Amino acid sequence: MTRHMHDDGQLVERRVDHDYVVHHSDDEPGLLVVTRVPALVCDVCDEHWFDDTVGFALSRLLQENEPGPGEIRTIEWFEVHAA
Ligand SMILES: [Zn+2]
Repeated sequence: MTRHMHDDGQLVERRVDHDYVVHHSDDEPGLLVVTRVPALVCDVCDEHWFDDTVGFALSRLLQENEPGPGEIRTIEWFEVHAA
C-alpha cells in the first residue's frame, strides 16, 4: 500500500465511497461505485487507501460487475460480504 504523508496529517479509518471509471474505446465510459468501503483516509486531503485484502476484493468486484457504456452501478460493500 502506498501512502503519502502530510506533515500535519494522519490516516484515520473510515468508510468511503470508491468510484471506478471503466473506459470503452468508442463509447461512453461506465461507472462502478462501491459504497462504504473500509479505508484509511488522510484527514488533510481526503485521499484514501485500502489494505491488501480490501484492494484484492475490490478488483475482483470490478471484474465481476464491470459497467457497460454509459452504465452506472452502485454496490454496497456490506452486501458483498454478506453473501
Ligand atoms: Zn493527504
